[in-house]
Amino acid sequence: MLEYENLNKVNAPYEAEFIPAFKSFLENGMYILNGEVDQFEKEFARYCGSRYCVGVASGFDAMYLSILTLDLPKNSEILVPSNTYIATIFSIIKAGYKPVLVEPEIRSYNIDPEGIEAQISSRTRAIMIVHLYGRPCELDPIISIANQYGLTIIEDCAQAHGATYRDKKVGSFGTTGAFSFYPTKNLGALGDGGAIVTDNEEIAAKLKALRNYGSETKYFNKYIGINSRLDELQAAFLRIKLRKLEKVNDHKRKLAEEYLRKIVNSEIVLPIPMENGEAVWHIFNVRHPRRDELKKFLLTKGIGTEIHYPLPPHQQSSCKKLFRGQQFPLSELIHQTTLSLPISTFHTVNDIEYISEVISKSER
Ligand SMILES: *Cc1c(COP(=O)(O)O)cnc(C)c1O
Repeated sequence: MLEYENLNKVNAPYEAEFIPAFKSFLENGMYILNGEVDQFEKEFARYCGSRYCVGVASGFDAMYLSILTLDLPKNSEILVPSNTYIATIFSIIKAGYKPVLVEPEIRSYNIDPEGIEAQISSRTRAIMIVHLYGRPCELDPIISIANQYGLTIIEDCAQAHGATYRDKKVGSFGTTGAFSFYPTKNLGALGDGGAIVTDNEEIAAKLKALRNYGSETKYFNKYIGINSRLDELQAAFLRIKLRKLEKVNDHKRKLAEEYLRKIVNSEIVLPIPMENGEAVWHIFNVRHPRRDELKKFLLTKGIGTEIHYPLPPHQQSSCKKLFRGQQFPLSELIHQTTLSLPISTFHTVNDIEYISEVISKSER
């Protein structure tokens, strides 16, 4: 069986380094916001090409706290793609603002810069862009629209650790870049985790307070903050895995290239190449008119797949009321036809060759 994902196999190569890291964490006895978090923040900021990094408890909190630092007026609207993972949209709602959905480009699955302009109102204050599947958004036109209308850019980089646009890492383009270290991500912890990168010193300081009950000095609470601290042990594991992130991304790029070379099937829509950026292939998705049939067929051939995602945000029962009467046909089309093929660190070029062959022969 070619599993879609297996986290034990993903993490087994690090075992020899994890065990002494755990032992020294245990013996050190300082379990909250200590040296490992500090060091990881420095290393991850450097990796992203940003001045500051603040570790938090999840990707959701990274986005939610990013929004809070902006102190936007009540009733502000934040633009967000209609085909993102639900967390992006919830972070806007939980921060107290209104998410306004923008359709993606069908070719890249990322937010359509022209759609952004069409949705800007007098209340629009920010754009939350998502580098979906690990593919960087086309940033030049987005940045120029944001500058023209005075909008803040927040990047959801939860699927794009290390992806670049014009040789610069994602996360370093927006006012803040939000990352998730959920275990399946390209840089994944052994539990939950997240971080924000920014070049803005004030925002970094505010984030450090907000994640820790709004406190800059112990027992003095400047803001109404939350508890969203990156776990010290997870930071220790993440430091070990960060050193191998480029290798992980290179491996996934090699697998993606193999799919792109080997899948020959006129019913399949493959990801298209990118001129100005380099993806990190968190997900390798294809589209097929009879997606569910293909998924079942692949399973009979011992190939596990996933769907990212089966139901668009505006059709989720939690959001139906909020987006009532609005239509997002491109997002719906993507959700109906997308299928994610195996592309984990333990998959080999041979695995991809086999999967590609099965998919190519499945054309009827
Ligand atoms: C994983 C993910 C998140 C949420 O991250 P958590 O750490 O699970 O909170 C947000 N946005 C996108 C695009 C994601 O893939």
